[in-house]
Amino acid sequence: MEYPETTEQALVIAGQAMEHMVAHGIAPNPRNFTIWYGYSSDHYPDLRRHMEKVMSSKTTFSEDVNSEIFERFFTSAQETEGVANAGVKLETTLEQMLKLFTAANKGTERYNRTLEDFSDQVATTDPKALEAMVGTMVAETKRMMRVNDQLADELSQSSKEVHKLREDLDKVRHEALTDGLTGIANRKVFDNQIREQTRIATEDGTPLSLLMIDIDFFKKFNDSFGHQMGDQVLRLVAKTIQEGVRGQDITARYGGEEFSVILPETRVREAITVAETIRRHVASKRVTNRRTSQDMGTVTLSIGVSQFEPGEGISNFIQRADEALYMAKGEGRNRVVSHVEVELKRLAGQ
Ligand code: GH3
Ligand code: MG
Ligand code: MG
Repeated sequence: MEYPETTEQALVIAGQAMEHMVAHGIAPNPRNFTIWYGYSSDHYPDLRRHMEKVMSSKTTFSEDVNSEIFERFFTSAQETEGVANAGVKLETTLEQMLKLFTAANKGTERYNRTLEDFSDQVATTDPKALEAMVGTMVAETKRMMRVNDQLADELSQSSKEVHKLREDLDKVRHEALTDGLTGIANRKVFDNQIREQTRIATEDGTPLSLLMIDIDFFKKFNDSFGHQMGDQVLRLVAKTIQEGVRGQDITARYGGEEFSVILPETRVREAITVAETIRRHVASKRVTNRRTSQDMGTVTLSIGVSQFEPGEGISNFIQRADEALYMAKGEGRNRVVSHVEVELKRLAGQ
């Protein structure tokens, strides 16, 4: 978790967090404080939306509710990261130890050679007793080398196991960031990336745009053709969106039948073009049941576009794309609307 605020800003946020907790009768323990600090800080638009939903549904913030929120928004990614880091550390340590032992072994080999040479000399010039003594020493050294070899083998084996463990962890980590149904990035990635990309856009002064994409009348599609066919459509839409964007763009499943694309270094005009391409591609595809070859017609998308305005909060940026999406719905669906149109409409209405 990152806290980019200055001390003064953090003090204000902390104060607000405390006020919220007092107002809701919530114990200000560290876990609850983390939640409410996150809520007040503007860095967790998803958390904020979720909390607003909880509040508007008049649910009490019981222990269970608090712990569920904490689990959902603050633990798993961090834990996975922690475990992965631990894996890397362990592996490095083992590798270092292995190097150490290999070096020690080389040293012993050299030691052994010296002794053997010495032994040869002694054999020709000195009494038997001395020769026997040196022989014993050589044998002892060889035993030591065997022990060393065994140790190195064991370490190498452990190192392999740790390596495998880290691969498993990488896999778990990848899964934690991937949407199971469509295989594209999940909501967690969106939340992290929107934070990261708005930070970059602010620092570098580069444009940044966002698409919020929603499948039209999807409930009706599910009702007519079944959930499984609906799932197939979600995969098709996800794939088509990914085909329509560039490598640096970040496509994620935002939730249910909603997708989002973060477009770094992109102005609203270009973002609208990308959205139009995606919309047209999806609308041009006929959906068929692969098993029965039944034609299920076409599905369409409504897309809202916004361009980041330096200084605005993340939730505002998302909300402006959302407003454009809802205008697209209101104007008949299967269309792209940008926040520019929303603003023009607002001005015309005044
Ligand atoms: P609108 O054009 O206004 O967006 O209408 P809609 O029917 O698409 O919107 P609504 O929000 O009423 O319904 C969304 C539907 O999306 C409801 C739900 O059944 C479906 N849905 C959400 N997630 C999934 C999913 O994972 N699989 C399937 N098959 N359907 C899903
Ligand atoms: Mg929807
Ligand atoms: Mg919909």
